[in-house]
Amino acid sequence: DTTLRLILGDQLNPEHSWFRHHHADVVYVMMEVRQETDYVLHHAQKIIAIFAGMRELARQLRAQGHRVHYLKIGDARNRQSLPANLDDAIEQFDAAEFEYQMPDEYRLEQQLARYTRNLPIPSRMVDSEHFYTRHDEAEQLFEGRKHWLMEHFYRAMRVKHGVLMDAAGKPQGGKWNYDHDNRKSWSGTPPQPDDFRPCHDHSALWLEIVASGARSFGEPNAEHFAWPLNRQEALQQLDGFIEHALPHFGEFQDAMSSRASRLFHSLLSFALNTKMLNPREVVRAVEQAWREGCAPLASAEGFIRQVLGWREYVRGVYWSRMPGYGQENVFGHSLPLPRWFWDGQTGMRCLASAIGDSLQHAHAHHIHRLMVIGNFALLAGLDPQELHEWYLGVYIDAFEWVEMPNTLGMSQFADGGLLATKPYVSSAAYIDRMSDYCKGCRYDRKARIGEDACPFNALYWDFFSRNEATLAGNPRIGMVYPQLRKMEPSAVQALRAQADAVRARLDTL
Ligand code: FAD
Ligand code: SF4
Repeated sequence: DTTLRLILGDQLNPEHSWFRHHHADVVYVMMEVRQETDYVLHHAQKIIAIFAGMRELARQLRAQGHRVHYLKIGDARNRQSLPANLDDAIEQFDAAEFEYQMPDEYRLEQQLARYTRNLPIPSRMVDSEHFYTRHDEAEQLFEGRKHWLMEHFYRAMRVKHGVLMDAAGKPQGGKWNYDHDNRKSWSGTPPQPDDFRPCHDHSALWLEIVASGARSFGEPNAEHFAWPLNRQEALQQLDGFIEHALPHFGEFQDAMSSRASRLFHSLLSFALNTKMLNPREVVRAVEQAWREGCAPLASAEGFIRQVLGWREYVRGVYWSRMPGYGQENVFGHSLPLPRWFWDGQTGMRCLASAIGDSLQHAHAHHIHRLMVIGNFALLAGLDPQELHEWYLGVYIDAFEWVEMPNTLGMSQFADGGLLATKPYVSSAAYIDRMSDYCKGCRYDRKARIGEDACPFNALYWDFFSRNEATLAGNPRIGMVYPQLRKMEPSAVQALRAQADAVRARLDTL
């Protein structure tokens, strides 16, 4: 009797226990479907990277002697949706059982739950064997609390998994968090490490994708494609990161530069989110590098906080809030995205760089996503759902479980502060401190009023002024409201009028 086992495009983990034994009666099913290319408008590189990774895993599994049923996007038999293709495969192989790994996205979890409910053969969902935490672990930890403090979750994870802890059960170095040491801007030294990722020529695959009719945006870069194809390449990427970038990761974690788009980040999110790499091995390798004296504690801790802390935590937020999280919009923002989200053509140098990089590489750093693009969107009042779809489409690492809480919760405060303790917004002063963008910008970073004034400035004061009822009671907001109250009413009015003028010409900024 044949068992069909479905492997989704973000389940590219060749170490899964499924593959430990060869069973002649197990057929692995993988499919490239328009259902998955089309649920949102995707960056070209994201579609290429996932399909290329799927094809590579299928190749490796076959080479190891497993049976694989693979449907390419252009196959005549491909009916372009999971249920339709599964129906066909069950019939073709006369399958007696169906199994799948737990999907990470609500959309797919629901679809497969519905599908298996009506299936005449038995079915089983197994663990994807990837995350540290269960779906509901964060929810249990935060039971009854209004705010879900990441730091609380992170410390509990450090203790539970014995990460960066000393023999007495205390955090290594005596502190849980070295954020304070991690806020430097970058002046050009030390130099950004070389990009040691191998390139691939995916132009043939790209032609197949185009021929299928799937729409996309952004640069395909199909001939010089640098995202990892498989676990081996991802492990090399991890080693390269630890050796060349981790030592400086911490201090320049929040730095931005027009001269170096990668700086000291790992670029590992795609390999992690498609499960080519396991978060445990990444965390272990970084902790080991610190133990061997190859990286300072502030860097190792800063990095581990992102993977063991933020990554698992946002997943917990997602599963506790779905469905419904996608509709949250506490400020009622509704402006459409300006056209330069699709071409990067804006005179605001910080945004031109952050969006330009996103369109060119299908990637941007956390600080660009949060304090440039997200910051502007929140201050201007862009529609959070539209923004969420843009983030979900553009980034190589964007899968809803991680993208949605970051976009709607952390960056847009759309959930009213479940995840972020305060809105992450700033005027030009912060961007100027952390980057070299403002010096060459057509806008004046110091001015608040007038044609040449940096748009962030008036929008910043306008944001706090118009949301006083929601935000004034927030103790983390600090000096903003006392400062606003000290201003002449006419000055506040002028700032609000300037913000309205900015909003009226978003497309031409
Ligand atoms: P590094 O800076 O090297 O960090 C190491 C790893 O930590 C990352 O690979 C990632 O796995 C993890 N990590 C870091 N920050 C976060 C975070 N806030 N949440 C979850 N994991 C984190 N990350 C995604 O993986 N997918 C997304 O769709 C995504 N959307 C985002 C949207 C917004 C608005 C914001 C503010 C952040 C988003 N992030 C997302 C988090 C973060 O920006 C990316 O994980 C990071 O930039 C990936 O690049 P890197 O691998 O070089 O990261
Ligand atoms: Fe961005 Fe304003 Fe600085 Fe220009 S002046 S780079 S728009 S923050």
